[in-house]
Amino acid sequence: MQIVNLTKVYNKGKETERVALDNVSFDLPNKGLIFILGKSGSGKSTLLNLLGAIDTPTSGKIIVGSKDITLLKEKEKADYRASYCGFVFQDYNLIPELDVWNNITLNLDDYKEEKINEVLDLVGLLEYKNSKINELSGGQAQRIAIARALVKKPKVIFLDEPTAALDNETGREILELLKKLSLERLIVVVSHNEEFASIYSQRTIKLENGKIIDDTEKTQENSNDILELKRRRLSFKNILNLVWANLKFHKVKFFMTLVISVLTLSLGILFLWINNTLTDDYYYKLLLENDTQYLSLIHI
Ligand code: ADP
Ligand code: MG
Repeated sequence: MQIVNLTKVYNKGKETERVALDNVSFDLPNKGLIFILGKSGSGKSTLLNLLGAIDTPTSGKIIVGSKDITLLKEKEKADYRASYCGFVFQDYNLIPELDVWNNITLNLDDYKEEKINEVLDLVGLLEYKNSKINELSGGQAQRIAIARALVKKPKVIFLDEPTAALDNETGREILELLKKLSLERLIVVVSHNEEFASIYSQRTIKLENGKIIDDTEKTQENSNDILELKRRRLSFKNILNLVWANLKFHKVKFFMTLVISVLTLSLGILFLWINNTLTDDYYYKLLLENDTQYLSLIHI
């Protein structure tokens, strides 16, 4: 995706005219986790809405593949949004009275049950598929919003302040999930959380007054340092908690693994035991039946 001289002026020519985006140019890769940082009013949401063809720029181009999406007709823009982009907003945009399953499948023309289950499993909430949204925590609701974006298999997911309404720990969990998802698609996160950006972002683009004031890609060395830091920060207690949470989420898988492990172990012991008795028995019989011949054989 190439963004060329992109400008957005609201209320152009009026007294309330406001330049939200001022001649911005940059490229986006096909994969990875990219942060757009900036204070409130710096133009982040405007940029996201333009990239997702939700809004039209005053001037400039957004090249996707070989097409400038700003020139598409409304119908084609709708196609681009439906097939290429996934959107996740701060307030989730879910219907609280509907359950998880219906929220995810509401706007899909057709779908395979199996695929929805796969995506729910990916965000760690398969067991909640029949829960109502208003029975979920903020972090869980945000995971469902991400799952809803994922089921369309978008090439890029745009998230506008996805962790703003969450506490720090839950925000981290969401970003861990996004990091995992960014291995296979482009994830663009709008945020004003510099700490999250420094830990999770592969590249950070900073906006101020509608202009890019910084665009920094993390080097391999940098990201290894941060991984190392994060690793050290995981105490034994936290690891146990993680293991426990994981077991709770994957009860069936855990139980099956346990049964299979016990079975394998028992079979192994049984085999060794049978082998031992048979062997002893075999030589004993051999000795009895033909002892001189056998003894002379083994003494050679
Ligand atoms: P951010 O998401 O970084 O907080 P926005 O992109 O929402 O910033 O806004 C950038 C600027 O554009 C702000 O000054 C805001 O007041 C203005 N703006 C945003 N949307 C509109 C709109 N629909 N009409 C007029 N001005 C707007
Ligand atoms: Mg905004």
